[in-house]
Amino acid sequence: MDETILIANGSVIDGTGAAPRKASVLIRDGKVAEVAQTIDAPDARVIDATGQTVMPGLIDAHCHLAFDDAASNAEIFHQRRNALSALVASYNARKLLRAGVTGVLDPDSTFENMIDLRDAIDANIVEGPRMACGSYALINNLGGTAGTLIGDSGITGYYKVVSGRDDIVAEIRRQIKHGADWIKVHVTGVVPRMAHLGEVCVWTLDELKLICDTAHELHTPVMGHCRGAEATRRAAVAGFDLIFHATAMDETALREVIDRKIPIAPALTFQANMVDFGPKLGTSDTLIRLFEREITESIDTIQIAHKAGVPILCGSESGFSLVPYGDWHYREMEVFVKYFGFSPLEAIRSATSQGARALRMEGRVGTIAPGFEADIICVTGAVEQDVTILGNTDNIKRVMIGGVEKSLAPLPVRKPISGWRLASMGKKLTRDYMGTQTPPDEPFEAIELH
Ligand SMILES: [Zn+2]
Repeated sequence: MDETILIANGSVIDGTGAAPRKASVLIRDGKVAEVAQTIDAPDARVIDATGQTVMPGLIDAHCHLAFDDAASNAEIFHQRRNALSALVASYNARKLLRAGVTGVLDPDSTFENMIDLRDAIDANIVEGPRMACGSYALINNLGGTAGTLIGDSGITGYYKVVSGRDDIVAEIRRQIKHGADWIKVHVTGVVPRMAHLGEVCVWTLDELKLICDTAHELHTPVMGHCRGAEATRRAAVAGFDLIFHATAMDETALREVIDRKIPIAPALTFQANMVDFGPKLGTSDTLIRLFEREITESIDTIQIAHKAGVPILCGSESGFSLVPYGDWHYREMEVFVKYFGFSPLEAIRSATSQGARALRMEGRVGTIAPGFEADIICVTGAVEQDVTILGNTDNIKRVMIGGVEKSLAPLPVRKPISGWRLASMGKKLTRDYMGTQTPPDEPFEAIELH
């Protein structure tokens, strides 16, 4: 376990945004002991990293390991079994390792079973990245992003409806008792007759404050799904510790976020995939433009927040069919570079040292410096010039967590699990479609994003 390792002669990106430098990294007792041009350590096992980038492992601040690349919320809500979905998630966790991910925040899951996966990983029962997780996402009976698919009370999939102050307090305490690292709140939701307004804020400021006060009293941070200015403003004022999406902020919301330096994880990889690959998938142009707008309308505000020192974290939203595990964890960095004007090193910082906040391990992981956990990857190529190098798993040569190398051997090929997927009959068979052989342009439908 506590092997002494010398990763020699690599190009070291430390994760702080600093330029790479030729150096060796000494690892003792699972931690970085020294970073220097020459290190004398005769007792160490030497790993030659000549020609490779040596950098902190990626931290994905938004990934749902239990969703298993579902094509819809209905599949997650109705086709899943508790123990089996935890076992399937343990398979998917190994895909993350092979993509260079050494830390992941799982915001909400079915059956709360990512708490079990986290504990199993921590106990060396199964292999996976370091995990922090939420439990059921809190909503009230107005609902979350899945609209009327969610019951008016109780639990649906990864949601729990809470009504009234006593219920809110009791559920937060219950989640913390059972091991949640974070409390997740869907601050916005879709109301079908108001769909033209997009997602609307479904909580009062007082309710959001109650959530934060209750969780903070028990040393537990709060994270929120927020689309729209008012939701982001209220979450910031209420005391949220991490805001997902934060799209369409206005000046007031932006100021509240900046004043408090609340980390934001835009999680726009899903949208970017739709923009770049939607035409291949037969997605209608209307829907593609809608997704693109969600990215472009965030450009100014994310840039201002970033420049003002707000930590911007990388989250991939992996777990849906458009963002399958193992393929896209690097891509949020690409989005930051392409749309938000981050330098590659700034984007890497977002995915490493800044991402440590998502794990509640700030100052302990995400940086290659003495005293930090040795969560390190070795990658072929100059990542500081092109972050998409990380998208090809062939380039990821070593993955280490706490100084222990993880297996990168190919995973066994999965077979279908009976009853696991929601059956679809495919396109609508209109007589027009039969005649023309071109798929009809689907009318706009609200997509359940969370
Ligand atoms: Zn999500």
